[in-house]
Amino acid sequence: MTQHKRILFAGDPHGNFRPLVTAVLKYKPEAVVLLGDYDLEFPLESYLKEIENLTEVWWIAGNHDFETPVKYHNLFNSAFSHRDLHLKVTEIAGLKIVGLSGVFLGRVWYPPQQPKWLGKQHYLLNQSANIPHFELSLKYKSAIWHDEFEALKDLKADILVSHEAPGSHRHGFRAIGELAAVMGVKHIFHGHLHENYSCVIKNNIKVCGVADTAVTDLLGNKLS
Ligand SMILES: [Zn+2]
Repeated sequence: MTQHKRILFAGDPHGNFRPLVTAVLKYKPEAVVLLGDYDLEFPLESYLKEIENLTEVWWIAGNHDFETPVKYHNLFNSAFSHRDLHLKVTEIAGLKIVGLSGVFLGRVWYPPQQPKWLGKQHYLLNQSANIPHFELSLKYKSAIWHDEFEALKDLKADILVSHEAPGSHRHGFRAIGELAAVMGVKHIFHGHLHENYSCVIKNNIKVCGVADTAVTDLLGNKLS
């Protein structure tokens, strides 16, 4: 195993985990990071039986993972539920990786606009004034919330993995690149947009978009 293949990144599987499994069997990385949008009909581990003892499986969630209760359950209550990277820094194969699941939603926060709600508590308190025992819907759970996003700025990391793209992509958000810069991140990997590309943004941060079912290494080389 070469150093830059010790962690692999998998773009939106949308139910097809074969390219990831094949890449793990071939390159035997220490860890893999899944970038969201799994469309799970069964628990996540059932797709990864061949590799679950060969590598560490880490993940963030994409918008599709909140589409139905089944998809949500099969990810968040899977055998890999403890490998959720969202909103924290985790040391993986010697690198500090921070995760950002979900997407920006107009009804919550759509930068550069001001947030509609400061955070989940703000939103829930407002709703429960009219509806007793109001709970956050899956749609709202899929949102990137402003207060949680801002809290990450107190942390440091080497790599940011997000479902949404930074401003390097025409459908991306500058807020993500700004977050990476404040955190001292050198490299962003993102999914969601089904496009393989690499580029460098402000503060010399390298961005790698990973296409659906594609797998890349730490240098952004496409492996499958
Ligand atoms: Zn997506």
